[in-house]
Amino acid sequence: KAAVHPGVSTSAVATDVSSGSGSGLPLLSQRTVARQITLTESIGKGRYGEVWLGHWYDDKVAVKIFDSRDDKSWNRETEIYNTTMLRNENLLGFIAADNKDTGLLTQLWLITEYHEQGSLFDYLTRTTVDLSDLIRMTYSIANGLAHLHMEIIGTQGKPAIAHRDIKGKNILVKRNGQCALADLGLAVRFDSTTGLVDIPVNDKVGTNRFLAPEVLDDTINVKNFESFKAADLYALGLVYWELCRRCNVQAPAEEYQLPYYDLLPGDPAIEQVRAVVCDQHQRPPLSPQWHAHDALCLLSRVMRECWYENPMARLTALRVKKTISGLVEQYDVKM
Ligand code: ADP
Ligand code: MG
Ligand code: MG
Repeated sequence: KAAVHPGVSTSAVATDVSSGSGSGLPLLSQRTVARQITLTESIGKGRYGEVWLGHWYDDKVAVKIFDSRDDKSWNRETEIYNTTMLRNENLLGFIAADNKDTGLLTQLWLITEYHEQGSLFDYLTRTTVDLSDLIRMTYSIANGLAHLHMEIIGTQGKPAIAHRDIKGKNILVKRNGQCALADLGLAVRFDSTTGLVDIPVNDKVGTNRFLAPEVLDDTINVKNFESFKAADLYALGLVYWELCRRCNVQAPAEEYQLPYYDLLPGDPAIEQVRAVVCDQHQRPPLSPQWHAHDALCLLSRVMRECWYENPMARLTALRVKKTISGLVEQYDVKM
């Protein structure tokens, strides 16, 4: 989409050194775009910086501004977004990255498509969902994750990528009701020619509450890339649980809650999460009401199979996507 914006000439696109990026914009054009943006309001805050609404000609964009002490995170997220063939309608659309030296400090920007509904967390706190919304959202998240996880071999290929920080705050809600995975700053890529993960993996990254049991107790096999994907699937199950609680098809929706809300304090320490998830083997409760409805019953089974203690027994993102695609057809959900 970004390549057809006004102001970026296609001849520049053709002659510049290509970034090979998911945005299709060459690096020089990325910088040009970045410097034509005006920022208007702060729309989000995360661990590593602040996200602003920006205007570029008639378009709205999101600008994530990194703390200049945190150039590592900007570098990493930019690098991941520049992975070839990354683009997918259920991954946040990358437009450009820019590092602007202003003398004393360096401004680090990451520019992406703007989604006015904000994060899934914000959305679910604010609204309930009907059955079509639920199916559309769960399907689109699985589709984005399946694309991220999949290795595609060849010149039109992409490496397998694990997200490592799946949660409602890192998923955006699009205008069409589908979701897009965002915040790729902790992602790892797998290079099948070397059989290695592309960065040194410091273990417990991510958000404590959403960490899989094998990450919490350090038994994760970091030598096998499938382990990182399996940890994403565990977190995906937690996100589905948050979504199902807000679905009003069977009964009035329950109030929004984070997973383990009744067992953990806000911002829990790793040890607290480990006690609940590893030692007590707790998982979020699957409501009996869900079992009385075929779609919610199917999603309950998906969640259970995302939460197995044995990471290799869990469903894959592709499997989840295929399972939910049955619901898309059955309920004739418009995507
Ligand atoms: P961090 O790495 O600091 O956690 P995120 O990329 O997760 O930063 O962004 C922080 C928050 O900003 C998100 O939870 C979301 O609420 C908001 N946000 C991020 N990107 C966008 C976007 N493209 N459109 C709308 N809101 C966004
Ligand atoms: Mg985030
Ligand atoms: Mg982040």
